[in-house]
Amino acid sequence: MTALVWLRRDLRVYDNPALFKAAEVGQGVVAVYVHCDAYVRLHTIASVQLDFVRRHLLVLTKDLADLNIPLLVVRVQRPADIAAELLRIAQHVEAEYCYFNAEYPLNELNRDLAVNQLLRDNGILVKRCHDRCMVPPGMIRNGQGDPYKVFTAFKKKWLQTMMPVVVKPVGLPAKQISLSNVTTVSPDEINTVFSGHELRDLSDLWGAGEQEAYRRLDLFIEKSLTRYLDQRDFPSIDGTSSLSPYFAVGSLSPRQAIAAVLAYTHGEWEGGNAGANCWISELIWREFYQHVVVDYPQVCKRKAMQAHTEAFPWRYDKTLFAAWCEGKTGIPIVDAAMRQLNTTGWMHNRLRMVVAMFLTKNCQIDWRWGEDYFMSQLIDGEFTANNGGWQWSASTGTDAAPYFRIFNPISQSERFDPNGDFIRKWIPELAHLSAKQIHNPSASSNYPRPIVDLSASRKETIALFAQLPPIAH
Ligand SMILES: Cc1cc2nc3c(=O)[nH]c(=O)nc-3n(C[C@H](O)[C@H](O)[C@H](O)COP(=O)(O)OP(=O)(O)OC[C@H]3O[C@@H](n4cnc5c(N)ncnc54)[C@H](O)[C@@H]3O)c2cc1C
Repeated sequence: MTALVWLRRDLRVYDNPALFKAAEVGQGVVAVYVHCDAYVRLHTIASVQLDFVRRHLLVLTKDLADLNIPLLVVRVQRPADIAAELLRIAQHVEAEYCYFNAEYPLNELNRDLAVNQLLRDNGILVKRCHDRCMVPPGMIRNGQGDPYKVFTAFKKKWLQTMMPVVVKPVGLPAKQISLSNVTTVSPDEINTVFSGHELRDLSDLWGAGEQEAYRRLDLFIEKSLTRYLDQRDFPSIDGTSSLSPYFAVGSLSPRQAIAAVLAYTHGEWEGGNAGANCWISELIWREFYQHVVVDYPQVCKRKAMQAHTEAFPWRYDKTLFAAWCEGKTGIPIVDAAMRQLNTTGWMHNRLRMVVAMFLTKNCQIDWRWGEDYFMSQLIDGEFTANNGGWQWSASTGTDAAPYFRIFNPISQSERFDPNGDFIRKWIPELAHLSAKQIHNPSASSNYPRPIVDLSASRKETIALFAQLPPIAH
């Protein structure tokens, strides 16, 4: 009995439920990764993330080979071709089972349903495991059986659900008998599969593979976890984990991360270590947004979670938008943040909120433009967290920022980059300015003037939101 494991955003061998279970049931396991050209375009997957996936597959080939599990990497044109390709492979390797770990956004759910149907129609049993969330979507409900719209209530219920559970990641799958009829993909073949797309190799910043993810996790816990609460908002400090790219491609699971934190706090979820509590809370935000896409699938159709906000008269000004993308808005903290994104494929969370609010509330540009641009640049781009973050900033989402509470980017800059160190790093042309001047350079400096008037645009946005039709219940 051969079992097929379809790998997607779960590129690791440890704590991989689908792989583990396939190895239990199968007498021979084959892993497959399907690259879809249209999917990359449809979801504006960043060239830096694509390359990160490519590099992960190179590492994974070796890790799987140690378990006698061959990896196949294939390419299809359209999402609709995936099911037929998987069937072809399953039949070729004579698989009786196909395992995969669930993904929750609507397109992915529909894709998986189609695969399930076709394989089952052809006598192959399909098993879907839960891996991306510690508590699968649909299981966190209020007293009326409804999903939570507010994060704090969701978090409370999530913790009540998880705290009695022993968090124990599953280990390495059992070593398999080798299969004579399947040859593992070669590095050249992997590179060929990805060759139709622009690839941006940032391996000097973001090493690939689960061992690299564990190394970073251990380092973060040892060096920064305890001070996370105090340091996480300051972009010039390495105060956050930078693990998001590894969560995004699944070389690290939330279970592994939480198990490591609990080992450090001696099992305390909410005890004395405020840094650990706060970090766990961020991982719960990540889960929250994965639940949101299942409970409110309209967000997967480019719709606002709060329907009444669809009436907001967003602007589609390409000049303003280009200035924002390029880090040329004339607001140093926004420009520095966008340059960090464009250079490293990653941006600090505080700054993601600042630049997203600036684009939506000061430039009044449709949050969907920002969402797409982030996806096109981020190495950690994940539809759920990205859409959640944008809808939060635009005041259109679940538990979003109230529309009248608009960040002033200059005050944010003064508060979270008080010495201007982050700005100096990314905008060397401002390095000579004092800590007082650097956040808002005077007209006499050579720095471009702000592309919008912060105060007037803020007032206008609040007035426009106030005029929206009432929320329908
Ligand atoms: C507009 C906007 C867009 C965003 N887009 C993405 C995205 O595409 N991918 C992504 O992973 N995160 C996204 N985030 C969330 C957050 O900014 C990043 O997860 C975080 O900056 C990653 O850095 P880190 O790994 O050092 O996080 P840490 O502070 O170390 O947090 C640990 C982990 O918790 C999760 N996390 C932290 N904050 C959030 C949050 N607000 N929402 C959901 N999960 C969170 C991430 O997986 C992160 O790796 C976005 C936030 C905003 C405001």
